[in-house]
Amino acid sequence: MKIDPELCIACEACIPYCPMGAISMGDDVAAINQDECVECGICLRSGSCPVDAFVEEKHPWPRQIRAEFSNPTVPHHSTGIAGRGTEEVKTNEVTGRLKPGWLAFAVEFGRPVTGARFRDVDTVAQALAKLGVTFEPINPVTALMEDTKTGKIREDILNEKVLSAIIECVFPREKAPEVLNTLQEAVKKIDTVCSVDLADLVEPDESVPAEKMLDEMGIFHRINGKTNVGFGRPKYKGGN
Ligand code: SF4
Ligand code: SF4
Repeated sequence: MKIDPELCIACEACIPYCPMGAISMGDDVAAINQDECVECGICLRSGSCPVDAFVEEKHPWPRQIRAEFSNPTVPHHSTGIAGRGTEEVKTNEVTGRLKPGWLAFAVEFGRPVTGARFRDVDTVAQALAKLGVTFEPINPVTALMEDTKTGKIREDILNEKVLSAIIECVFPREKAPEVLNTLQEAVKKIDTVCSVDLADLVEPDESVPAEKMLDEMGIFHRINGKTNVGFGRPKYKGGN
């Protein structure tokens, strides 16, 4: 995103709308810090500028990845899905991705104000890959890996910054303590915030086995239930 200096009247109306704090006043006009701008388009879509000074550019690779992950009107080139570009863990039960005996992770990097660079996503993805997790194939972060066996994110996007990105993966239940411990160590090395969704299937007696495990490991958690009424028919019929 750019601001046309010929149009800007320095009214500062746009500044509060930028979730990255990337807009500041220069000498006579507002300017955008291009390294911090995640190309979310909020400044433009907010309609805050009285003189239409914002100029949205179509960026070549690798910068195009910023809008794909940060602007909900721009679909991902890999999945064709807009927004965060993934069906997310909440639909696993409908699509049959999560099977009995397995758990699923969604590791969500970045938030407004902090954002996330792909070098941080890469650090965590490589740590998880060493444990043999299976990355979700229909996920735009997975599509950016050089090799899903190593979790290595392609080199040319490591410095690109986005509002938020999500790693999704599944792993056998017995690996859960090792995976959680590895994740806790890996996030100490990154320069952004992240939250983790752990998905488990509810047992016939309505218990959630992962909850007991998290309690035993002393990991803070909140139980959330999702029922996707009317949005799909369970494809999974049981068995492994
Ligand atoms: S595109 Fe988003 S991050 Fe960039 S200046 Fe506008 S609001 Fe800020
Ligand atoms: S709202 Fe428009 S005119 Fe006002 S400072 Fe921002 S870019 Fe300049």
